Amino acid sequence: MKQLPSNYVLEKFYTYAGGPSYNKYNKIYNGSCPVCREGKSWLKKKRLYFYPESNSFYCFNCTQNWNAYAWIEQNSGMTREEIYAEAFSGNFSRDLTQEISKKKFVQKESSVLPYDSINLNDIQQRCFYGTNKYFQKALEYIEERKLNTAVNKNPAYYISLKDNFHKNRLCIPYYDFDKKIVFYQTRALDDSKPRYLGKSGADKTVFGIDRIDPSIDSIFLFEGALDAIMVRNGVAVAGLTLTELQEKQLARFPFHEKIWVLDNPKMDQTAKDNIVKLLDRKEKVFKWPDKPYKDFNEWVIAENLNEIDYKFILENLY
Ligand SMILES: [Zn+2]
Repeated sequence: MKQLPSNYVLEKFYTYAGGPSYNKYNKIYNGSCPVCREGKSWLKKKRLYFYPESNSFYCFNCTQNWNAYAWIEQNSGMTREEIYAEAFSGNFSRDLTQEISKKKFVQKESSVLPYDSINLNDIQQRCFYGTNKYFQKALEYIEERKLNTAVNKNPAYYISLKDNFHKNRLCIPYYDFDKKIVFYQTRALDDSKPRYLGKSGADKTVFGIDRIDPSIDSIFLFEGALDAIMVRNGVAVAGLTLTELQEKQLARFPFHEKIWVLDNPKMDQTAKDNIVKLLDRKEKVFKWPDKPYKDFNEWVIAENLNEIDYKFILENLY
């Protein structure tokens, strides 16, 4: 599709970004990101940037980037065809600088992450929320479980202190091939139930699909995200049956061998039953060594590792 006129994109930027402004020295626009909402710094830190030269967007809070079509699509709810039609209809030749100051800025609910999510990997947010009990707890959890040092770590983790369903839980975003957040799971930071909660009304995707290294011949299918990050080409699918969307994502790697890695069957009856089911389906399944750990995350914590070598999995199959 034809490149959108910057004037049109700018109009959309001023509609959806919070408190937009222009830096005349570097010729870049910035405002608050309507996708992640930047936690409490909405309208304060304004970490979404619009670069007119490349017609692209980058948010330093949720670290997502978009081309103009994708950003407008996500925030306006319009399809690309509708955006195209509107942009080239000839109604966008007005002088924006006159109108910009009068605009009321739309504050949109995040469609990607829980309400008012805060990026736990962001240094500024860490300073700002340093004393919040749940924020602290989430950071401790990340460190304890090696979530930021694991070989296949996720690009970021979040927490919401306000969301009705997901507040005070660790939010684990799922990215797609374009490094865009498309799904998330939140996890309780203590023993409270439910342990895991998925994004409601959204299709489950493959966790870690954004980090597949095609030069490794295998993809390792875990149940849980926090185990999958410990292995190169580890992904998580949460369940034995793939959703249609997950099938589609994995179909991009038709020649990669898929190997299931479940929890330790000696410690977990469900895992034991599931392994039997997978073997009945003639799937390839990891055979646990004689180790007293429930899952990969427990294993790396106990042995102070940041990686379980995928070759070890390949050498231990049923
Ligand atoms: Zn953002």
